[in-house]
Amino acid sequence: MKEANLLTFYERFKDEQDCRDYLAKLRWNDKTTCPHCGSINEAYKYKDGKLFKCKACKKQFTVKVGTIFEDSQISLQKWFLAIYLATSLKSGISSVQLSKYLGITQKTAWFMLHRIRKVIEMEDMAFFGDIEADEPYIGGKTQNRQLSKRNKDNTKEVVFGMVERKGKTVMKHVKSSGVSSLIPIIQGRVQQKDSSRIFSDEWGSYRSLKKLGYFHEKVNHHKGGYVNGEVHTNTIEGVWSQLKRGVNGVYHHVSAKHLQKYCDEYGYRYNTRGLDDFERFNDWFNFVNKKRLTYKTLVAKNS
Ligand SMILES: [Zn+2]
Repeated sequence: MKEANLLTFYERFKDEQDCRDYLAKLRWNDKTTCPHCGSINEAYKYKDGKLFKCKACKKQFTVKVGTIFEDSQISLQKWFLAIYLATSLKSGISSVQLSKYLGITQKTAWFMLHRIRKVIEMEDMAFFGDIEADEPYIGGKTQNRQLSKRNKDNTKEVVFGMVERKGKTVMKHVKSSGVSSLIPIIQGRVQQKDSSRIFSDEWGSYRSLKKLGYFHEKVNHHKGGYVNGEVHTNTIEGVWSQLKRGVNGVYHHVSAKHLQKYCDEYGYRYNTRGLDDFERFNDWFNFVNKKRLTYKTLVAKNS
């Protein structure tokens, strides 16, 4: 879609059938696949345009079966708009705002947004080249809810992040900024030690990196030079500032339980920053076959 904006988006998906057809194309690529038995091109479509029946196993299905839309009463049209807004707005969208836009309850909007985030949760990606690492505190209930290295009132959470310069990012909500929390994440993702360089602040947890065979340089904040040629963490500071704007300004309060999902949302937008809004909307659907999330799993204590 050229020059995607809200108006062209609305015109493209003006009713449920437009959305169903589009979802079918993205999921099955014109090869209708039975979610019950896996038969391809064995199903016929009823006249209502909604229901399919598989000739092989005789079972019925819709295009929503096996996706996060399956057990939702919300129209696909509203879902599509929610996905478009949630993936295209730089700082995200709150459930209060989304509920007003779509004419749904705030609780429903909250649930939709969490489902949309769940689909794009970060998978294990390998990191290469010049990498910046950082471990700020985030959130909290104090008046000065800023990202900071201080956690005097114990209400802040630690997020560990890495970013490849000119590449992708990952943000992980961790228990602490200790060695045992940070180093395994680096080891899991940075495996090509010879061709990777890691830059961080002077935090003690990174000291073991050299012993482990990594190239590691720390930014010396005390000697006045934040930027010392290549030794800087400016890139990841930019990533945090976006997350901070969202968590403080859009979402107001993010509970520890859900913080990882917000990290995933911001990380996803950063990692797809080369796409335009409609390309990113389509990209989101690449993941839609994989995940299914019910309200039960979302509100469960350990989900
Ligand atoms: Zn079948």
